[in-house]
Amino acid sequence: MQSESASDARTAGGASPDSADAPAAAARKRRSFSVRVDDDVCDGCGVCLFFCKPLVLAQGQAVNRRGAWPVKVVDESRCTGCKLCEYACPQLAIFAKEVPHDH
Ligand code: SF4
Ligand code: SF4
Repeated sequence: MQSESASDARTAGGASPDSADAPAAAARKRRSFSVRVDDDVCDGCGVCLFFCKPLVLAQGQAVNRRGAWPVKVVDESRCTGCKLCEYACPQLAIFAKEVPHDH
């Protein structure tokens, strides 16, 4: 059993491990990303859908000028900014960028 004095010693000075991580956690939480698909260039291959595990993207229902069904962004707020979609896209048709915040 831990003594009270040991517990007091850990929290002495007011900085628990959780509170020390709080600013970094808050900064991570504030980050947001915009995702854009070039509808005219996308050929609907679906590679980005495979890589996007947070389900930001979905197969689109509209046909583009190439006769393909370009993907669409369904929930940008889920984007982690991993850029796997961007790196994997053979057509260079999708881009994910961090949205800068005012501080
Ligand atoms: S950057 Fe990552 S999370 Fe965002 S849309 Fe692309 S694959 Fe999905
Ligand atoms: S990987 Fe590129 S070309 Fe293929 S569906 Fe996604 S955005 Fe379109």
